[in-house]
Amino acid sequence: MSKRLQALSAQLDTPLLVTNLTNVFYLTGFDSSNAALLVEPGGGATLYTDFRYAESARSVPDVDVQMTKRAMMADVGARLKGRVQFEADVLPYLEWERLSSGAAELVPTSGLVDGIRAIKDDEEVAKIAKAARIADRGFEALTAETFVGRSEREIAWRLRELLHAHGADELSFETIVASGENGALPHAHPTDRIVERGTLVTVDWGVRVDGYCSDCTRTVSTGGLPDKLREAYDVCLAAQKRACANIKAGMTGVEADALARDPITDCGFGENFGHGLGHGVGLAVHEAPRLSTESTDTLEVGHIVTIEPGIYLEGLGGVRIEDLAVVREDGVDLLTSFPKELIEVS
Ligand code: ZN
Ligand code: ZN
Repeated sequence: MSKRLQALSAQLDTPLLVTNLTNVFYLTGFDSSNAALLVEPGGGATLYTDFRYAESARSVPDVDVQMTKRAMMADVGARLKGRVQFEADVLPYLEWERLSSGAAELVPTSGLVDGIRAIKDDEEVAKIAKAARIADRGFEALTAETFVGRSEREIAWRLRELLHAHGADELSFETIVASGENGALPHAHPTDRIVERGTLVTVDWGVRVDGYCSDCTRTVSTGGLPDKLREAYDVCLAAQKRACANIKAGMTGVEADALARDPITDCGFGENFGHGLGHGVGLAVHEAPRLSTESTDTLEVGHIVTIEPGIYLEGLGGVRIEDLAVVREDGVDLLTSFPKELIEVS
């Protein structure tokens, strides 16, 4: 039985029906759009899927494969009995109704697989590091090109081409290119706005390689910045570096967040940093753990997290600087390496 299935079953006192497809993939390597996995405390596992995936399901080791109808939950529900935990954070209400039409007593739970998935083994770290390297190179090529006079959408599209040319399988999320006032929106979509001189351009991008994601943000200058934007950049960079230098295993998500938040607040920009410091990255671009003022997580060796403070000034612009890091006993190893000192693009 795989290490991952073993680790999960060792934590169970009640069977768990895994319906998050990324979790099913993580536990079994089975990649499909329709599956559920019942994991027993004793170590047994049953994989449910439909006819379309029959052949690939049979090659999954250590699981008993059962075929269901394509609309599977009523069918699965009819085969379960006794107490069964389900992933309450991902199972839609209608599916829950279908599942409950059977004899099982359904018990809501969340975070069981996610907690295991958050800790990356060496092979996973290598894959994410590779994705981060490809992303770095694609962005480096972009910064050699002209920004001023091109639209945000053009730049996002060009970066996508460069990332593919450097070996990305696909983007891990829609690239953000936010210039001028748009930089004040943390999750801006690229628009037809033309990048002007004398401002900041925030680019947040990531790629997927071998199933694993990267995530990085850099903010570049188009020269001659207003003082306030220059100050925001310097404060954000110092805070980001402080967090990178001090985050380590054993720290809570709240403590990690404070490493960057405190100096930003002390410089008067506290109100302008309205999101958490970071999140886990792996098979999904946002996963456990969370680094924020509301986090309930504690950092562990092998977590891969982003460190991404930002300062957003309405009507003026914004800055965010994001690295991807592996948490170690006494610090972090950065997987992103593009320079963080403010660079000027043409
Ligand atoms: Zn990002
Ligand atoms: Zn991020």
